[in-house]
Amino acid sequence: MELRDLPSVDELTRGVDDPLAVEAARTVLERAREEIRAGAEPGDLAARLHGELRSLRAPSLRRVVNATGVLVHTNLGRAPLAAEALAQVVETARGYSNLELDLSSGSRGSRQDHLASLLRRLTGAEAALVVNNNAAAMLLALAALAEGREVIVSRGELIEIGDGFRIPDVLARSGARLVEVGTTNRTRARDYERAIGADTALLLRVHQSNFRVVGFAEQPRVEELAAIAARHGLPLVDDLGSGVLDPIPGEPTVRDSPADLVCFSGDKLLGGPQAGIVVGRAELVERLRRHPLQRALRADKLSLAALEGTLRLYLEAPERIPVLRMLRQDAPTVRARAERLAALTAGTVEGTVGRVGGGALPLAELPSFACALDESLAAPLRGGDPPVLGIVRDGKLLLDCLALADEDVDEVAHAVAACR
Ligand SMILES: *Cc1c(COP(=O)(O)O)cnc(C)c1O
Repeated sequence: MELRDLPSVDELTRGVDDPLAVEAARTVLERAREEIRAGAEPGDLAARLHGELRSLRAPSLRRVVNATGVLVHTNLGRAPLAAEALAQVVETARGYSNLELDLSSGSRGSRQDHLASLLRRLTGAEAALVVNNNAAAMLLALAALAEGREVIVSRGELIEIGDGFRIPDVLARSGARLVEVGTTNRTRARDYERAIGADTALLLRVHQSNFRVVGFAEQPRVEELAAIAARHGLPLVDDLGSGVLDPIPGEPTVRDSPADLVCFSGDKLLGGPQAGIVVGRAELVERLRRHPLQRALRADKLSLAALEGTLRLYLEAPERIPVLRMLRQDAPTVRARAERLAALTAGTVEGTVGRVGGGALPLAELPSFACALDESLAAPLRGGDPPVLGIVRDGKLLLDCLALADEDVDEVAHAVAACR
């Protein structure tokens, strides 16, 4: 086909009764022009127009199958929610809710009340507050407690989390002044002690989350920092990153932090929706709640419903929280899943190393198994319905079975068959 053989937008959309037809036809023709210039055949343009119309109507944000072996994958929406958490979202959001109404008195209530007692019970803290995410929790804590004053933090903890989120930048935005102590690899308790002055508002500890310094390295234990803070009458704020409520080897639990205020994410190892949770001393939490930024950073009702649904499971059946279940499944279970997928797709089983992801336990290697297929399937599977995301390595596509549910296996096998 030559450029001059291409139909006009009018010709291509003739007989197509669809308000998006003109926009879709322009896209199809533009792509065809590029292909012809590159020496390729654009093929059946009418079929392409219908394909383009279908994709214009399809939701952009949708479910994908995570065959990457990373449990909390930030690009794939972090934690999948438990059925019970989703049910609470549907139940409270499809109609009206008592979001800010106290049903016993009939007067105005606070959206924070729904989660406060659950969080107190699960963490042992005096008070709790929920905002949009952990970055917001940090911003609010620093603005409310340290604006115009100094915050002492170790140089070994001035981390970047991902997508350019840097602790020093958040500190600057909060209006607090950063006082760095120690070095990248070694900070001692007395470094903090020496830096404390009349302008000090608080000590900040940031969990190293997504990296580790090994070798000649030293950081004071958080208990030592808590003791120093207490001696000087200053609060210690602990940014835990991942909020672990049910013990997981290698990660500190929220309950065990001796800090006056602890901040953590809802959608990392906690296994809930995106949220930033602050727990700690009632008087400090109250200062955060009263700060004007709180109104701008608060969580919405969908997140609060999903978080309450998730936290309730911690009391009754934590094994029903997907992230915890996947983290605790044994290797033979994952291997059996990979073997079934390999049998259905004529693939081979390979041992792999899975990861927790989401800035938690960066060194933890979770034994896992994948179904190996030809690399050429990676792109069509990613473009399929549902999209399946694996790992391309050494000319092979590895479909890691660590983060797959048993019921995903047949669906992935169908997706593979559709691509062949
Ligand atoms: C992930 C992380 C954050 C940011 O949390 P979000 O919920 O993604 O905003 C902040 N601090 C630490 C230590 C983290 O690991």
